[in-house]
Amino acid sequence: MGCIFCNIIEGKADASFIHKDDDVVAFMDIRPVSKGHLLVVPIQHGSSPEDLPEEIVTKTFETALRIARGVKTSELAPAGINLFLADGKAAGQEVFHLHVHVIPRYGDDGFHISADAWAEAPPDRAELGDTASIIQRAI
Ligand code: 5GP
Ligand code: ZN
Repeated sequence: MGCIFCNIIEGKADASFIHKDDDVVAFMDIRPVSKGHLLVVPIQHGSSPEDLPEEIVTKTFETALRIARGVKTSELAPAGINLFLADGKAAGQEVFHLHVHVIPRYGDDGFHISADAWAEAPPDRAELGDTASIIQRAI
């Protein structure tokens, strides 16, 4: 089974493109969660940021930010924007070719972000500090 995003990049499958350069493309998501939902995709195949050269991942995010700025000033006139990357199945990744979602938001647009933890008491400062230390030691 081939990679659908590689097929799109190679012109073997259809997509509505917004941007193409030597490293990165952007095209409309086939199943948009809101009007203007698009994907920014490095040409080089890799599932996770660690699978690709850092400058390619950086350029992918820079392109996503630039396109998001354009979307904001476009006729779509969204009230806000979400940038989203799913890294791994547990994070909701369904297409294992890295991509950044640019999702224009329109107030009560039916796209919801929720967490069971929000129903619970927030962690105290000590717990936040311990977690911060775990991350600090790894970077
Ligand atoms: P993920 O969950 O991996 O972050 O998101 C994958 C995204 O790719 C989904 O939003 C889905 O709608 C989109 N997608 C899946 N197949 C295709 C396709 O063939 N063409 C386009 N343009 N988008 C696709
Ligand atoms: Zn691919």
